[in-house]
Amino acid sequence: MGETALREAICEVGRRLWTKGFTAATDGNISVRLSSGTFLSTPSGISKGFMKPEDLVLVDADGDKIAGTGNVTSEFRTHLAAYEERPDIGAVVHAHPPKAVAASLVGVSLAEPLLPEVVLAIGGIPTVPYATPASAEGGKAIRGIIRRCDAVIIAKHGTLTVGRDVFAAYLTLEKVEHAAETVLWAKLMGTPEQLSASEIEALHRIQRTYFPEARLFQPE
Ligand SMILES: [Zn+2]
Repeated sequence: MGETALREAICEVGRRLWTKGFTAATDGNISVRLSSGTFLSTPSGISKGFMKPEDLVLVDADGDKIAGTGNVTSEFRTHLAAYEERPDIGAVVHAHPPKAVAASLVGVSLAEPLLPEVVLAIGGIPTVPYATPASAEGGKAIRGIIRRCDAVIIAKHGTLTVGRDVFAAYLTLEKVEHAAETVLWAKLMGTPEQLSASEIEALHRIQRTYFPEARLFQPE
């Protein structure tokens, strides 16, 4: 994909983030890795629902702006940490999806095997400890664990999802928030039952057919 198409893809994903309520106001950020080792990122202080391709900024591997009118998003250092840990990924999406974040606010884990579509595509969804947004702590919080999965909940703050391209990273976010919503409903109605070992084993047998590139999170 050329840079023009990548800029349009980021704006399209931004519209979906905003439309789905995964971010509010000017929250959230999106980036993609370019073949030159630089990055295209959303700037700070802009609604993700109303971005134009020319609003995006070009950033170097130290997180410094190369071109563009806005400032680099303050949370880009967390994106950089993910790119450094995962040479295989091409995009990072950070959002504040309310149900996934709400689960972390009350200490509800989404790492357990409850839903087949999560086991197949993500494995489980780990939660890492809170880190001050826009600080260097954000990058430290996701280092290490992001090598083992494509989706992380940063406690009391948001999600970080990664993928081969920006649509893959976005779709993983959709899956995370949908799982959080389903678990929320289940907990309102009773106690969710985990998938059995044999049910999980059966999913793992077909996993590579449907999600060959997924990095499945397995609790240690
Ligand atoms: Zn954030």
